[in-house]
Amino acid sequence: MSVNLQTPIDYLKGVGPNRATLLKKELGINTYQDLLNLFPNRYLDRTQYFKINKLVNSNAEIQIIGKITRFQDAGSGRAKRLVATFTDETGSIELVWFRGVKWIKDSLKLNTPYVIFGKTNVYSGKHSMPHPDIELLTEHENGLRSALQAIYPSTEKLSNRGITNRVLTKIMQQLFLETKGKFVETLPEKLRSEVKLISKSEALFNIHFPTTSELLSKAQFRLKFEELFYIQLQLILKNLIHKSKIKGFPFNQIGPNFNTFFKEHLPFELTNAQKRVIKEIRQDLGSNAQMNRLLQGDVGSGKTIVALMTMLMAIDNGFQACLMAPTAILSVQHYNGLSELCKPLNISIKLLTGSSKTSERKEIHSALESGELDILIGTHALLEDKVKFKNLGLAIIDEQHRFGVEQRSKLWRKNTVPPHILVMTATPIPRTLAMSVYGDLDISLIDELPAGRQPIKTVHRFDTNRLKVFNFIRQEIKKGRQVYVVYPLIQESENMDYKDLMDGYESIARDFPLPEFQISIVHGKMKPADKEFEMQRFIKGETQIMVATTVIEVGVNVPNASVMIIESAERFGLSQLHQLRGRVGRGSEQSYCILMTSHKLSEGSKTRLNTMVKTNDGFEIAEVDLKLRGPGDIMGTQQSGILNLRIADVVKDGDILQHARHYAKQILTKDPRLTLEENKEILETYRQMSKYKNIWNYIS
Ligand code: ADP
Ligand code: MG
Repeated sequence: MSVNLQTPIDYLKGVGPNRATLLKKELGINTYQDLLNLFPNRYLDRTQYFKINKLVNSNAEIQIIGKITRFQDAGSGRAKRLVATFTDETGSIELVWFRGVKWIKDSLKLNTPYVIFGKTNVYSGKHSMPHPDIELLTEHENGLRSALQAIYPSTEKLSNRGITNRVLTKIMQQLFLETKGKFVETLPEKLRSEVKLISKSEALFNIHFPTTSELLSKAQFRLKFEELFYIQLQLILKNLIHKSKIKGFPFNQIGPNFNTFFKEHLPFELTNAQKRVIKEIRQDLGSNAQMNRLLQGDVGSGKTIVALMTMLMAIDNGFQACLMAPTAILSVQHYNGLSELCKPLNISIKLLTGSSKTSERKEIHSALESGELDILIGTHALLEDKVKFKNLGLAIIDEQHRFGVEQRSKLWRKNTVPPHILVMTATPIPRTLAMSVYGDLDISLIDELPAGRQPIKTVHRFDTNRLKVFNFIRQEIKKGRQVYVVYPLIQESENMDYKDLMDGYESIARDFPLPEFQISIVHGKMKPADKEFEMQRFIKGETQIMVATTVIEVGVNVPNASVMIIESAERFGLSQLHQLRGRVGRGSEQSYCILMTSHKLSEGSKTRLNTMVKTNDGFEIAEVDLKLRGPGDIMGTQQSGILNLRIADVVKDGDILQHARHYAKQILTKDPRLTLEENKEILETYRQMSKYKNIWNYIS
């Protein structure tokens, strides 16, 4: 029978129906192809054999040549086990099995040379090796062996049922025998020689049976590159197709509102980064394609003004615009701020949140439909079906990380032609990850803070120094500044957190008594109107201290606030700490962030706190965060598929990713339809990928 890689794994010699079922269930291996793409987790140096009298208790994996001299059943109940004495010319150790005992006893022979492989430990004074990988010496010598032994991903069930790493290796050998190790090349010659990539067949052989460590790294590089290249190719193609297919509303003119605002009413000089980003957006809006742009900018970098100027472009071209924010507080703040800025212009702006009154809603609905209303600002309430625009041309989403992909697409459907979309985020996503996760969006970056900002001074203080911290607060308030004190609120322990917050509030109220000091408090259990009231008191400067939970995390803008105290700082994640710190340092005064913790700190907490103290750079912080937590916790990664990488690693292989993206772009720029002869491998692979949904499932 001729083999093709879509052949079910059952047909491979040495597999059979039982093993096939297990391989399918435990590792998702259905076909030859799947097996071929089961990449090893790691490799072991198997050129070394240990002598038993040289064993040390090191917990390293080792191999020994010797013979089993006797079997013995030991223990009872849960401690029941099979013990074998394994001897070489220098001494003996015990091999121990708790499971699969019958199978072991039946299949292993006494006094026959074996190679055992595994970790040893010391048990009642004797070295022993539990559940060793074991192989006849003759087979070991004949096998398709390499200096570096591949160790495959496995599960407990697999090893209990006798599918050990050795068995997997043998099955893999069989696959290479049956296919003669020849696989279809999936990257064009030209690209391979430019990037210095070895061939597909050579890479696959060496990933499973590396002959030298140098060839192993070449194999890894080739396969990682291939994986990332095709992901980037897909993303870039999606973006290109989107641009050519999805027509947007061309905003051809720069009209009176934009011009008047720009020339006469800008409250400050724009930073160069803001100017550049506005230009990028203008270019998008003037083209015939629909804009899908991500605006990244650290907290306080001034994204709001960019949002406003983009909305003015929409209005000047006869369209409506909306701005959606994740919380009511933030929506209200945007509404107040933007209304103020737009005062000199003849523009109508309204606010819609969950707590808008029915009469207000009705008014808004009809003004939207008649086209009287130019700008609508609000929360998720904007997404409701009842909210219909006469002619929505632009939708802006603030703090994108709080929203999912569905919300973006709901906004899409608010007009017959999808409006232009601008998503803004202060969560700095490391570049490599942004490229993978948001590869279908164009990215603009505000990488510069407004002039005159002083870097925030961050310190870590233990709870025992609270009095000193309070004295410091007092001094700052005397200078006319305002202070935030933030408590963690984690859903699972909400009631306890709530108690911490109230206790904290009381002790602050005691140390900062009325009438000299006024304190605001804001937390999630309050009614929206009460929250808003307290927030406004703080914004207007009527209160000096704002005690709050993380409801103030995103976007709140009170430039006069110069001190941010974060209680139980060890309980916050890095990006949250950075967001919170971004609430201060918004004016020209020196600002401070004080991270309060107890003395009990985990290593992870220490790293987070030190990082915060050391740097204000959101991107640097994001990199540390990515290393600490892995990409899984970073917003957006879940849906992107980037976590299903088989061999590459978004964190460690950032350089390869950049390379891969560069070449994917270059090739598509020259040959967007992949019709050139030199790209035929790419076209074919891409076709197969689209069919199989996963790049490793295409036919090799
Ligand atoms: P974010 O990017 O975090 O949303 P904001 O848009 O809220 O930042 O801006 C933060 C503060 O900086 C606001 O008080 C805003 O008025 C001010 N600001 C923005 N751009 C500039 C600028 N170019 N020069 C001076 N201040 C600016
Ligand atoms: Mg903002």
